[in-house]
Amino acid sequence: MDFRRLPKIELHAHLNGSLSNANILELYFLKYPKKDEEINAKAYKVEKNLKKLTECFIKFKYAHELTDCPERLARATENVIRDFSADNVVYLELRTTPRATEYMTKEIYLKTVCETIRKCREIFPEIIVKLLPSIDRSYGVKNASETIDMIIEFRENFPDVIVGVDVSGNPIGTEFRKFRDCLQKARNAGLKIAVHCAETKGTVDENMEMLDFGMERMGHGTFMNESPETWNKLLEKKIFVECCISSNLKCGTVVDIDQHHIKKLLDADHPVGICTDDFGVFDTNLSREFEICSKTFNLSSTDIESIILTSIEHSFATDSEKSTLKTLVSDFFTETEQAENFT
Ligand SMILES: [Zn+2]
Repeated sequence: MDFRRLPKIELHAHLNGSLSNANILELYFLKYPKKDEEINAKAYKVEKNLKKLTECFIKFKYAHELTDCPERLARATENVIRDFSADNVVYLELRTTPRATEYMTKEIYLKTVCETIRKCREIFPEIIVKLLPSIDRSYGVKNASETIDMIIEFRENFPDVIVGVDVSGNPIGTEFRKFRDCLQKARNAGLKIAVHCAETKGTVDENMEMLDFGMERMGHGTFMNESPETWNKLLEKKIFVECCISSNLKCGTVVDIDQHHIKKLLDADHPVGICTDDFGVFDTNLSREFEICSKTFNLSSTDIESIILTSIEHSFATDSEKSTLKTLVSDFFTETEQAENFT
């Protein structure tokens, strides 16, 4: 199968982790036009598999320095959308933590990303893009609460862009339970919730708290099978799991690709999607992730079609967008099948 031609759905992509080499280069020269020193792009990439998840979070500082003003943030966003569209991603949910910098407030950050997503509809009409502003756990509860209030307010003006909230950031040293109240507020306001869950070992109690709180989608869920209680509850609740294979391998949370939990979830007929997480940092793209998954687990064309249709169903798109996307994907598989029957 030609995975590049395949119309794909990306439901787990962080803006600052999705900067391609060309995007980094462009942003770097916008920021430092007179500097001719060598760009330290290696500081952004995960070149070999890491030992600890914490090491991975350090990588984002590099991108954050380049997207610290509205102009470069807008350029970065546009370039990321361009890159996903070039990889034939037809529906993209981007996530990013609104943050204040020397040159902009959190409000300006969020406004810039929302406006750029809208602008890109004309430039890249082949891709539908939505936004999940993120709550970064490491920024603390007060910051999260302020961000949620801001997101709810912004959605009034950008209901076509902001569709939910993502909970992310370094899980080590923070407690999910402290964020429950503000997340409940977001839920009451009608926002969908996606939570990074079970990214590291030994968080069984927190995983259970997250499952009890509930969410529309789960990021990673790598160690959900550490306890039969959390595993069974996940299956019972049928919460869609966003699987990011290269990210897990490079962050060292999954050591052997054959043991990746996507296999166990697929065998249990559980809803999953294939995602990139941070294609720039992990040097991949969604086509490659589909190819890796397909080859490792011997997926059939029907399996791949089913994964994409399930992703559409669990996306935060409108019903009419879902229907259009499903037709597009089904038509692709019908045409591919017909062409293969001819040859
Ligand atoms: Zn993520």
